[in-house]
Amino acid sequence: MFFGNYGLYFLISIPALLLGLYAQSKVQSAYKKYSQIRISNGMTGAEVARKVLDANNLRNVRIEQVRGTLSDHYDPRKKVLRLSQSVYGTPSIAAAGVAAHEAGHAIQHKEKYGPLSLRSIMVPSVQIGSWLGPIIFMGGLLLAMDNLAIIGLFLFGATSLFAIVTIPVELDASKRAKDVLSSAGIVYGSELNGVSAVLDAAALTYVAGAVQALSTLLYYILLFFGGRRRR
Ligand SMILES: [Zn+2]
Repeated sequence: MFFGNYGLYFLISIPALLLGLYAQSKVQSAYKKYSQIRISNGMTGAEVARKVLDANNLRNVRIEQVRGTLSDHYDPRKKVLRLSQSVYGTPSIAAAGVAAHEAGHAIQHKEKYGPLSLRSIMVPSVQIGSWLGPIIFMGGLLLAMDNLAIIGLFLFGATSLFAIVTIPVELDASKRAKDVLSSAGIVYGSELNGVSAVLDAAALTYVAGAVQALSTLLYYILLFFGGRRRR
């Protein structure tokens, strides 16, 4: 019975899971370390974001404070940049890096950066596919209806594709952040290494997310062909 194939599932998913845990611990330790190191120019995350946005003619993008840790994000529909409390009001190296990264997403939005547009188009199908895909797929396997299982595979596959498209979007936002922080003179010398440590660790969590989505897809594909062989 394919649902009992836990050995195969663990074999495929454990490397991705370990990478995810490693990336999480790395981003948390880098964030903690550089949140405690004061930026020499004394600017808070909110001030950094405002400066980067204004320099890119994005005065219409508002900056708000949001609850949580590492909950920072840019909302393209409302054109609001939301920064977590410790980024918003803290003049730290980590805050500058995160704030400039989120401002980078706003710049991507303004410039209609290809991968970001693709990602936005995919959102509705991913919201459905992430939960409906596995249900349809398992239903197809149970009922031995190959076409149904394949529809489920494609629906879930959209989720994996979304996770892959997310990687260039995040890397590009971080690259923009590092460039603008040094060119605008917001961070100096070795401070940029701290910014890189935080942003590179964050990027690794997105790589881990894509690896996890792909490994789950691979597991489904193996189940599908395994199920067919037994018939
Ligand atoms: Zn981002």
